[in-house]
Amino acid sequence: MVFMEEQAFVGMLLSAIEVYRHECYGIVLGHRDGDNWVVESVIPYLTAETTPTGVEVRWRRERRLGEVLGLLSTRQVLGDYHSHTAWGPRRALSILSDVDVETMAQDEVQLLVAVNDRVRTQPWRYLRDGSLSGTLGEYHIRISAYSFNDGDKQAGRRPRQVPVRCPFAIGFMAPRSLAAGS
Ligand SMILES: [Zn+2]
Repeated sequence: MVFMEEQAFVGMLLSAIEVYRHECYGIVLGHRDGDNWVVESVIPYLTAETTPTGVEVRWRRERRLGEVLGLLSTRQVLGDYHSHTAWGPRRALSILSDVDVETMAQDEVQLLVAVNDRVRTQPWRYLRDGSLSGTLGEYHIRISAYSFNDGDKQAGRRPRQVPVRCPFAIGFMAPRSLAAGS
C-alpha cells in the first residue's frame, strides 16, 4: 500500500491543478517499510512543460535532480509522480503510458494524478482498483500508484497497481452537505 500524508496529498494536488491542461511532475519523498510506502512530501520539478505529448521522455532526463534533492533531505526518494491531464476532448487516463513504464525503475513507486474537468461534485473515496478519487473545485482527480513486483521490470512485465490510502483526503474532504448537517 501507499500511505499518503496530508502534505504530500495537498502538494500533489496543487502541483497538478496549477498547471492543469499541462502535465506536472516531481519526486516523492518518505520512507518504505516492506511493501508499504509512506509518502511524506513531494517536490515538484520547477521546469514546466507546455505540450501534453512527447514531454515525458524529456522530463525524465531531469530525474537526476530528484536524486540530488534526495541528498538534501533526510527522507528517502521513493519514486516520482506526474499528472495526466485532459487535452481537448480527450479525458486524462489513470493508466501509465508505455514511456511511463519504460522509464520506471524496478524499486520505485510511481504516483499518477489524472485531472479532468469536474462533471459533478464527488466525495473523496477509494475506488475498487485501489485508486483515490474525488473532486476539488472545478476538477475531478484520481490518484493511483504503481510498482513492479520483484524481477518484473527485467522480465518486461508491467507494474502492478498499488492501493493508495490517504485518511486526510477521506476524513477531511467530505461533501459540504454532510459536514453542514452534523
Ligand atoms: Zn504518464
